[in-house]
Amino acid sequence: MDMRYVHSLALTICAVAWVATASAQPRSPLVGDQAVPVSQHVWAVMGFPNVGIVVGTQGVLVVDTGLGSRNGATIANIVAKLAPKAKLYLTTTHFHPEHASGVGGFPAGTILIRNSVQQKEMDAHGDEMIALFASRSEQQKELLSDVSSRRPDVIFDSEYKLDLGGGVRVRLLWFGGAHTQGDELTFVEPDKTLISGDVVQNKVVPMIPGDGGTPSSWIAVLDKVQALGAQHVLPDHSAPGDGSLVAQEKAFIVDLRTRALQLKRQGVSADQAGEQLTEQYKSRYSDWPITSVAGFVRAIYKE
Ligand SMILES: [Zn+2]
Ligand SMILES: [Zn+2]
Repeated sequence: MDMRYVHSLALTICAVAWVATASAQPRSPLVGDQAVPVSQHVWAVMGFPNVGIVVGTQGVLVVDTGLGSRNGATIANIVAKLAPKAKLYLTTTHFHPEHASGVGGFPAGTILIRNSVQQKEMDAHGDEMIALFASRSEQQKELLSDVSSRRPDVIFDSEYKLDLGGGVRVRLLWFGGAHTQGDELTFVEPDKTLISGDVVQNKVVPMIPGDGGTPSSWIAVLDKVQALGAQHVLPDHSAPGDGSLVAQEKAFIVDLRTRALQLKRQGVSADQAGEQLTEQYKSRYSDWPITSVAGFVRAIYKE
């Protein structure tokens, strides 16, 4: 286990920001217990994380599993009520445990789909991430005690098209590295709904743990996302919104990158720049619950 990697994850993983910014309450490591509508064919179970459910006449696609099999089973039960006879497909936005470790809670015969870069990351770092998350609390340890990894039924490189019936065509997309290297985006064509993972969030400071993408690869991914023309966005750790979330995400990253690189050129250290910009950004983006931008500034300096 590379402890440097684990240490940087402990500092920067998406979940930490979510805890810090969402509320003063300790975060529950559970998914929600009901589905709420996002768009005509898309539902969400809001919680840790927000899980997307796309319902067609023949098939249903679930995006993310929750932490461990118990959460996965909660999602599977909700889906069974929502679409009782549909063929079940499952995919994951990225390899972090609250998104991908609950596969064991889904019924046998569920078709698991994942992009190849994400699968490689999971093979390389999945176990250490589970150990890290299990070390955080007794409850998380228990939830992660029975994680079974299983190989996907379908592995794709950059795009996989899924037809769920009734005109519900879905594109599973890998556009490059952002929060992780294997971030997957799900675009539901008839609804123009994007299930965005950590790539597009709603006023959450972006993070790149360990050896994820880079700030400029994240911007390049967002350019491709923008071309999809999404009208609804369901992020995994923040509130749903309209298509303007994509431009908002890009504008924030471009702005922070520009300012951080200015400071770098002036010889300001990464740590100092992180402190200065955190203070500035708390007022510059006063409607974002910002606790720190230092992690992303370090990623900008490193690139
Ligand atoms: Zn997450
Ligand atoms: Zn994550």
